[in-house]
Amino acid sequence: MGFSVPARVPPVLSRPTLGGRAAPSGPLRQHRGRRDAQLPLAPHLVRAWCRDYAAAPYQEWTARNRTAGGVDLQTGHAYGEIILALQAEFERHPEYYPLIDGRRKPGKEAKLCIGNEELRRLVVAYRVEKLRKRPALASVSVDPSDGGGWCECEKCRALGSISDRVAILANEVAAAVGAESPGKLVGLYAYNHHSPAPSVRIAPNVVVSVATAFLHGDQTVEEIMDGWGRQGAVLGVREYYAVNTWDRDQPAQSRGANLAYLSRTIPGFHARGARFMSAESSDNWGPNGLGYYIASRLLWDVRQAQRVPELVDDFLARAFGPARSRCGSSTRSSMGPVRTSVSTTGRPHVPRAGPGEGACRPCRRRAGAPG
Ligand SMILES: [Zn+2]
Repeated sequence: MGFSVPARVPPVLSRPTLGGRAAPSGPLRQHRGRRDAQLPLAPHLVRAWCRDYAAAPYQEWTARNRTAGGVDLQTGHAYGEIILALQAEFERHPEYYPLIDGRRKPGKEAKLCIGNEELRRLVVAYRVEKLRKRPALASVSVDPSDGGGWCECEKCRALGSISDRVAILANEVAAAVGAESPGKLVGLYAYNHHSPAPSVRIAPNVVVSVATAFLHGDQTVEEIMDGWGRQGAVLGVREYYAVNTWDRDQPAQSRGANLAYLSRTIPGFHARGARFMSAESSDNWGPNGLGYYIASRLLWDVRQAQRVPELVDDFLARAFGPARSRCGSSTRSSMGPVRTSVSTTGRPHVPRAGPGEGACRPCRRRAGAPG
């Protein structure tokens, strides 16, 4: 019932952990390493950008709340890595770079001329070789580089939409990876120019993580998920629970602090078939610790969305003890109302983050975004 492997909640409420200061009360250890046979699940829920000083408590938090240790889904922007690794080939064949305004445009983070069959074969071989050299990897990414700059050549146009081109390359990589390493996955986002669903079927070992921001076109997140799902993609979600440049770690400014958003979207994404979740998050456990904890519970069992008030009370009691009433009111104030206009329409508008900020970053970077 959850995103995570065995979606069984311990018989007693887990003790929430604030940076690892409180010990879990549930039998967490016994759950590690088990897999639900029905669902290829991978919860790397809270992908916090912790600084070095917080690395150890962050790892402790992920272990205790079981938000790590699932499938290591590689899904980040990958064309740059491919170009760098195959630099000599690209120098010999500038036609592998995108044709823009009549000229091939080299670049470290360029797009690829996917219409070129030789280029596709090269990428496929490189990805297969990577798994051969690193057999512990569960997956490889074929997600495009960030931003625009797509090839305008006739061969690329003939393949179809940008999503079609991305999907065709992903499928060819997936076929080779599947033949060489059964069970390994190929990851990519539905994001930016390649967020709309393609017109081609998706190979069964390709996981498409739909971004909940920076989408291209007018479709909602749900419509995009449904579109890729109809083409056979295994679905994931690429969330944004906290982005420092959006919320500046202020209380009640991010999705990660919005319990109503978490309670609605996590079960909703799961119901649409999503089985992977990755959420960009920050080292901001004061304003967002409660939300991260609640999210971890819902990812294990989406039915817990019906018990959020009870989970919150449990969290406050265990985290703050006698100071609960005072800390609770402070923590609750971080629960909302959240200024961020969070919707699943793919067009979240985040107000300016603070004094001195210009137009909000999502608005400024609509065409090219962090991934
Ligand atoms: Zn091309």
